[in-house]
Order: sequence, then C-alpha cells, then structure tokens
Amino acid sequence: MTSASPHKKSKALKPGSRRPAKELCSECGFCDTHYIHYVKEACAFLNQQVAELEEEAHGRSRNLDNSDDWYFGVNQDMMAARKKEPIEGAQWTGIVSTIACEMLNSGKVEGVVCVQNSEEDRFQPMPVIARTPEEVLAARVNKPTLSPNLSVLEQVEQSGMKRLLVIGVGCQIQALRAVEKKLGLEKLYVLGTPCVDNVTREGLQKFLETTSKSPETVVHYEFMQDFRVHFKHEDGSIEKVPFFGLNTKELKDIFAPSCMSCFDYVNSLADLVVGYMGAPLSYQWMVVRNDTGQEMLELVEDQLETQPVTSQGDRHKAVQQSIPAYEKGVTLPMWAARLMGVVIERIGPKGLEYARFSIDSHFTRNYLYVKRNYPEKLEAHVPEYAKQIVGQYELPE
Ligand code: FAD
Ligand code: SF4
Repeated sequence: MTSASPHKKSKALKPGSRRPAKELCSECGFCDTHYIHYVKEACAFLNQQVAELEEEAHGRSRNLDNSDDWYFGVNQDMMAARKKEPIEGAQWTGIVSTIACEMLNSGKVEGVVCVQNSEEDRFQPMPVIARTPEEVLAARVNKPTLSPNLSVLEQVEQSGMKRLLVIGVGCQIQALRAVEKKLGLEKLYVLGTPCVDNVTREGLQKFLETTSKSPETVVHYEFMQDFRVHFKHEDGSIEKVPFFGLNTKELKDIFAPSCMSCFDYVNSLADLVVGYMGAPLSYQWMVVRNDTGQEMLELVEDQLETQPVTSQGDRHKAVQQSIPAYEKGVTLPMWAARLMGVVIERIGPKGLEYARFSIDSHFTRNYLYVKRNYPEKLEAHVPEYAKQIVGQYELPE
C-alpha cells in the first residue's frame, strides 16, 4: 500500500471550532494539518487574495481589459480537447487522470494528491497521495462533494517527497498556493478543475433524490452545456433532466455556504485547468495558465484530439432573466422545461459564451448571497474581476 492513509474526519474539528471560516468553511482539509497556523492568510474565505497569488504563480495577475483574462483568468493557451481513447469510468474522457499518470510515469513527480472514494460510498471523498498510476486511476471521476484534499499535506512533508502534483478545486488551490513555499518542495505542479455549487454528502443525497428517477444507481452526473443535467447510471444508461425543470425551491439551500460565496469558479491559481464548460458537447476545455501548465499538457498531447475554442451567442439577456427567476424559485412543469431546453440549446450561448453564461449566473447569485448574509465581507471578499462581471447586470436589493 503506497497511498497515504485515508483522511479520517475528526469529530473534534467541527466547523467553527478549528475552522476559522466557520459556516463558510469548504472543508478543504487545510485546518486538519499543522499549517492551520497560516489559516488567516491562506483560507480563501478569510483572505481573498487571488490577484496577489496569480502574480506569484503566473508572473502576472489577470488583465481586466482582455475579455478572456477577465473571465477565465491568466492564460497563455486555451483549447477544446478529448482523449482519443477515453478512460472508462472517468468524469469526462479522463484527461486529468491521464496527465497525473504520465507525471508519475515520466518521473516528473513522486506523488499526486487526488481523491479516491471510501469503500462503502462511491461519493464519499477520501484524499490520498497516489504514487502509482493505479492509485491515480482509482481516483478518477468527480466526488461531487466538499472534499478535504489538503488534509494529506502533512504526509507530503513527512514522506520527504520533493516533487508533487496536486489536483484540486479553487478553494483548495488558493490555500495550497498560500503555503506553497513552506512545503519544502523542489517543484509543485497544480492541475485544477473548475468548480461550482458543491455540496455536503447530505446535500448531494437530497439533490439526487429530488432530481433523479433512480438516485441509488447514479454513478456520476454533470450540468452539461446542453442545459441539462446528465445522470449516468450503473447500467450505463443516461438520464437527462433540463435545468429549467429542477426543483429550485427545494434545492436552493443544498449548496454549501462556501460555494454560495465563491468567486473562483475557474480555478485561477492552477497551472493547468481541465473542465468542460468552454468547449462543445463531448469535448473538455483546457486552460494553460503558465509554462508549468504547458509542460503538463505536452506530456499527453499525442493522446488528445484537440480543436480551437469557439464562442457563439449572447448570454446577457438570459442571465438577466435568470436572476429574478432564481430569486422566486421558479420551476417549470417538465414538458415546458424540456421544450425550453430544446429551444435554448438551439439558440442559446455556446462554447466560451456558455462558460461566460455560467460564470455570470453564479457570480450574480453569489454576490447577492454575500451582500445579504455577510455585508461586512462584501468589499474585500469579492475580487475586482467578479465585481466587474456582476456590474453588467441589474440586481435586486
Ligand atoms: P478524471 O480523469 O475523471 O479525474 C477527476 C479528478 O478529479 C480526480 O483526479 C480526482 O482526484 C478529482 N476530484 C474528484 N472529486 C473532487 C473534489 N470533490 N474536489 C477536488 N478534486 C476532486 N468543470 C466545468 O467546466 N464546470 C463546472 O461547473 C465544473 N464543476 C465541477 C465541480 C466539482 C465538484 C468537480 C470536482 C469538478 C467540476 N468540474 C467542472 C470539472 C469537470 O467536472 C471534470 O472534473 C473535469 O473536466 C475533468 O474530467 P476528467 O474526465 O479529465 O477527470
Ligand atoms: Fe480551514 Fe479550508 Fe475551512 Fe478555510 S476552508 S477554515 S482553510 S478547512
């Protein structure tokens, strides 16, 4: 057994006791380690410092006059890609797992921080330091719940590892970057995914039970670019539920407060980001932020089919209309939701414009959430790029 021992959830560490961010804590795992001493500077919910950390990680912060930078963060290349031979059971085609495996195979790193699941529950996250491709592959597919990835950081130090790859979402990566220089590493690689609307394990159960016809057989799901949630079931079947048919009233309070106040959807501080929302259906979306990200991309380029990113449509009207609809918890009858889904798929935003649609919808919602629930935090917590995005819309009080 070469992976680090599974994270054990400490009963003593309830939010609010050793979680200084209290109810805003995203359970990123940082406070389970002795690095907790740095939490006031490092925690994404206590000290928003995206621009400063971008400068350190990428050599510059994002240019708000350049629309791609403004929305997607510092980048030197962007593309749509998919694996020529997808990995069975991966979330998409398995680009993330493939990069991590090649990083180990090539000897560029000695270990990979990633998230497997517990034996009893496919959605219960279990962070590990994988040292073999088999252990990386065992972590494939999203655990769509808050995951304490950084809880294994101490084990990195104890293991004497000098070259490490960390896979994670924005809040985890911000805390990681804040203590990067204290980890004693010669080289850190950061492979990120975008992340939004994450939930606790209980919240996930409520979502599955409210939305899927067969919650117990769901193996993974994704909010897709065709405006439908695609649930994949154990027997390989795909169930599609239009966004507009979701039971918004029931689901409004399942999202973690951390995710309702997050403005780092695109994982600004990773070297390379792999998501899907800026790409056409069936492709993944890759954002190379710096030379370290390019180095990772080059390791797998021959295994990928790529195409340039494109952008089509205009999101603004749809986003503006979605603001009061969300506030009122509007849910359409399923026949109307399906019809709306078909229409919007034809005429709605596509490619990078779909990604902007998703960013705008979430940032306006989150801005209102912070303004109403944490007004004293609003000014410092919302980054400049997000204020500029939100500023395009008329918001209710
Ligand atoms: P795989 O090869 O299947 O690997 C998945 C990797 O994700 C594994 O290495 C695993 O360690 C890691 N992982 C799994 N669960 C977690 C977790 N909870 N926290 C941190 N790391 C985890 N992309 C978008 O474009 N838009 C979105 O709105 C979006 N939301 C996301 C929400 C969550 C919670 C997560 C984890 C990812 C999200 N993504 C989003 C990214 C997208 O769903 C895919 O993960 C990404 O495209 C990689 O697919 P893959 O097949 O290459 O990954
Ligand atoms: Fe600690 Fe992470 Fe929670 Fe912040 S989000 S309080 S760093 S565990």
